[in-house]
Amino acid sequence: MKRLLALFFVAVLVLAAILVVRTVRLKPEQASVPPATLITVDAGAVDRFASAVKIQTVSNFGQPIDADAMTAFRDLLATSFPHVHAAMTHEVLPSGSLLFTWKGKDPSAEPVILMGHMDVVPVEQSTLDHWKHQPFSGDVAEGSIWGRGTLDDKAAVLSTLEAAETLLAQGFTPARTIVLAFGDDEENGGSQGASGIVKELAARGVHAHFVVDEGGAVVTGMLAGLDRPLAVIGVSEKGYLSLKLSTTGTGGHSSEPPAHTAIGELALGITRLEANPFPGGLPEPSVKQFEALAPWMPFSKRLALANLWLFKPLIVSSGLKDPKMAGGYHTTTAVDMVTGGTKDNVLPTTASAVVNFRILPGETTDSVIAAVREKLNDPGIKVEVTAAGSARNPSPVSPTTSEGFNDLQTTIHQLYPTAVVSPYMVQAATDASYYYAISPNVYRFAPLEITPAGMTMAHGFNEHIGVDNYRHMVQFEAQLIQSVK
Ligand SMILES: [Zn+2]
Repeated sequence: MKRLLALFFVAVLVLAAILVVRTVRLKPEQASVPPATLITVDAGAVDRFASAVKIQTVSNFGQPIDADAMTAFRDLLATSFPHVHAAMTHEVLPSGSLLFTWKGKDPSAEPVILMGHMDVVPVEQSTLDHWKHQPFSGDVAEGSIWGRGTLDDKAAVLSTLEAAETLLAQGFTPARTIVLAFGDDEENGGSQGASGIVKELAARGVHAHFVVDEGGAVVTGMLAGLDRPLAVIGVSEKGYLSLKLSTTGTGGHSSEPPAHTAIGELALGITRLEANPFPGGLPEPSVKQFEALAPWMPFSKRLALANLWLFKPLIVSSGLKDPKMAGGYHTTTAVDMVTGGTKDNVLPTTASAVVNFRILPGETTDSVIAAVREKLNDPGIKVEVTAAGSARNPSPVSPTTSEGFNDLQTTIHQLYPTAVVSPYMVQAATDASYYYAISPNVYRFAPLEITPAGMTMAHGFNEHIGVDNYRHMVQFEAQLIQSVK
């Protein structure tokens, strides 16, 4: 017994030693990057951006794009950025999206594609009173530019054009061709805009060196224990699926009900679905993110992140307990709509619900459908894919070893020398996922400087961006374009 106990203590000591050695071995290393002379942002840049915010290029769900607003927006770009329109090939694709081609010194080299979208989400009338500045005012006040689209995503579109305009005025030619691709229906799924752009580029035989879209940011104060900015580059995104579940009943008078009506049967199915959530896991981008973060974290957190082989189950299970975090660890299940019944004394003949799933890499729309059928465990509940156009598998994971990732990382450090750069998994769906058809190197990043307070602004109210932040975005885009080899 004594020997067993001694052996046990030795084992614990060895394990502790391994954990500590692995932890202290990780030392934070500040990246050293070549110094950069950032461009001087033109004095008119902020006004040009504000003017673009005023145009109501709203994507209303299920409705066609407001063609007049889009035309006005494109016209404004033409007058705002004369060098861009003179020097680049400029195309309006049939859907209304925009494609600029800036020929590089080596036109045979694969181009770099800088993306953005010109449309914005609608403003809920009930929130109008909450806006300090009206959503399409484009007001420049309190050190910020205000309005719908200032973050999502007109800042990216305008800052990219502004950067190109300045570089062109200086006589700059990029090393390889730069394509600017701006969709016009991202907020409706990009099925015409981004999808159309990619089809067109693919038909022309274009294969991209790398692609940059929205979806990343420079966040501060978001992660307890990290006392410096965190620049997150999206390297993959979750999949998307909505399923309609429906049941049928015999109908009849409600004085003679069956044990479960159509509604009751559906409710039982929904209950089983919610009681059996999808299992947790740690997708590859999150593993890479933890590896990047580990050296910068205080000892206790570093201990866990440096020893994922041991602590992964603990990290996953604690992540799953927090609804704000859980999406990073499993395929989420959200029962979003339900209908059924017509009258208080009539048995319902049908009932249905729509359930939305955000799919973790490693699973597919098909595997989710199969799992849902199993969880429902009731052949009486019909399962159909709804809004089939928006169903998509999780995107592939872009490498962190490509020249594109490296260019982004270097440019980030040139603007934010103390930032920790990490890959991450985007939980929302963006236009970027279409671009895997023409490049494995698809990244989601723009230096939107975000704090916890600003997290809900993008599709909420009081959307605004700091004037300084916008200027940094212009400098970032210019620096990135110049860094392309
Ligand atoms: Zn967006």
